[in-house]
Amino acid sequence: MRIAVYPGSFDPTTNGHLDIIKRSAKLVDKLIVGVLKNNSKQPLFSTDERVELLKKLTKDMENVEVDSFSGLLVDFLKEKNATIIVRGFRAVSDFEYELQIAQTNYSLDNNIETICLITRVEYSFLSASIVKEVAMYGGDISKMVPEETAVYMNKKYKGK
Ligand code: ADP
Repeated sequence: MRIAVYPGSFDPTTNGHLDIIKRSAKLVDKLIVGVLKNNSKQPLFSTDERVELLKKLTKDMENVEVDSFSGLLVDFLKEKNATIIVRGFRAVSDFEYELQIAQTNYSLDNNIETICLITRVEYSFLSASIVKEVAMYGGDISKMVPEETAVYMNKKYKGK
């Protein structure tokens, strides 16, 4: 059984993330989306909110699970019997960072492979931070995120 983990902050989930989830789920038997708990950045959404949103967005995807983790990613993979890490690539600027994490994870556990999927052109400039910035100033994020994410964003900013 080929089990992969797609780790990230998902604060919140964008169309770019969802595209990577859909595409990578086709390559493996099981895909676990791993929401990072111990984020050095102060997230807009709590871990529970990020997990809940991802569960809603992936409810019709049979081989996709959502869970959260803290600590080392390689330990989370072990716990889940996973051997593959999925990451998304937007631009050259992602490369150095992704290379560093992939090589670190490989040095911690050489049974693990990282696969990076290249983003679709339309999602190249999309990041969770851009979405938050646009939403904070009342801009239209409907083309950047799934409808459910927009609902979460509206609630968050109205509540403030
Ligand atoms: P991180 O805090 O590690 O950047 P993110 O939640 O921002 O976590 O992203 C998780 C993964 O999704 C990373 O591999 C990132 O490159 C990828 N990703 C983010 N946005 C996009 C996008 N628009 N297209 C493709 N991959 C993306």
